[in-house]
Amino acid sequence: MRAVAVVGASLAGVETARALREQGFDGRLTVVGDEDRLPYDRPPLSKEYLLGKAETDDLALLDGDDEDRLGIDWRLGVRATGLDLRRRAVELADGTEITADAVVVATGAAPNRLPGTAGLEGVHVLRSLTDADALRADLAAGSPRVAVIGGSFIGAEIASACSVLGLETTVVEALDTPMEPVLGPRVARVAAGLHGDNGVRLLRGVPVSGIRGIGRVTGVDLADGTVVPADVVVMGIGAKPATAWLEGSGLELDDGVVCDTGLLTAAGGVAAVGDVARLRGADGTSTRPEHWTAAAQQPAVAAANLLAGTALQEYRRAPYFWSDQYGVRLQFAGRAAPGDEVRVVEGALEEYAFAAVYERDGAVTAAAAMDRPRSFTRLRRGIGRAAAPV
Ligand code: FAD
Repeated sequence: MRAVAVVGASLAGVETARALREQGFDGRLTVVGDEDRLPYDRPPLSKEYLLGKAETDDLALLDGDDEDRLGIDWRLGVRATGLDLRRRAVELADGTEITADAVVVATGAAPNRLPGTAGLEGVHVLRSLTDADALRADLAAGSPRVAVIGGSFIGAEIASACSVLGLETTVVEALDTPMEPVLGPRVARVAAGLHGDNGVRLLRGVPVSGIRGIGRVTGVDLADGTVVPADVVVMGIGAKPATAWLEGSGLELDDGVVCDTGLLTAAGGVAAVGDVARLRGADGTSTRPEHWTAAAQQPAVAAANLLAGTALQEYRRAPYFWSDQYGVRLQFAGRAAPGDEVRVVEGALEEYAFAAVYERDGAVTAAAAMDRPRSFTRLRRGIGRAAAPV
């Protein structure tokens, strides 16, 4: 193999480049990214960076040695607009194209936005460093009242940062208990308690019906008639895989780029990794883990399979993520389902300091912890194949 093109210059893209070189690929390696900066890490954007405790340099995913070792031909600040599968040519917005023997799709996901919010000042999403800079500036201007729409992980972290900044903050969540689909009802109720205990108002079970303001946002309307006055609104309502550029390419798209458990698509020589990749198992079930660890680990498998020309390896790790909220580190691994029993093995849920397992028919399906990293690591090891992705 003489040339590989990686599309998406973030965690999964960088780790793909690293894995290819580590596995002996010495050909031309091009990485395309639509952001006009070198790859950076996203988790701190809703944590230390928002609080001004980390700066741009702290987020770099590459150090100086990497630059030399990886020998990447960067194409930054330019969007991929299409993929010609027959020629394995990546078409770019500047009218040029990159042909390669293999293409890796690592375009991640783009944040969802409520309709009618484009151009309204004070309304934010948080996915990129540019988004974080805009939000950070708005939070520092006066003492804005903040409404966070969506109480899932990123929304909860933003609310947590706002509370540390001393801002009047309201979280608006459509579900009765935020994060319940992932954490299950018992642990999700505990996590929801963090908001109130830290002075953040949580309005739950009511969807947003609209955003108020002409030119600049003034508040959020809820379906039950409640109005939440706000000078800054942040939408933390999930993200969609960035696949628009692949429409019509012939790659199978289904809420992500469909690939096998070896990260290879049905089109030879094309792999998908990270948030954009939907892994489909032999039984037809599929998953798209949108977590840092998956984006960091999948590339080694994808690189091995691309270089071998066949799916020699599978990515079969149980999903894992962490989230830092209100000074508490929440960790979760595995896959909990409705009806799983939660058994606390250490600490106490109500103290926000515990390690617990989820069990079904006597088998452990998942583990969760707050501020118990060591116990959590031990429990995580015990999560078997039942909790593997597909
Ligand atoms: P991305 O990081 O989304 O990168 C994709 C890149 O491709 C982007 O640079 C994008 O601009 C670019 N791109 C998209 N389309 C094109 C195109 N057509 N042409 C060229 N380039 C394109 N996970 C955890 O487990 N724990 C956490 O605490 C945590 N915190 C997070 C906090 C924030 C604010 C965010 C946004 C994410 C967080 N995550 C966390 C998730 C984690 O960061 C992601 O899973 C990870 O970034 C996915 O990496 P990726 O490379 O697949 O995609």
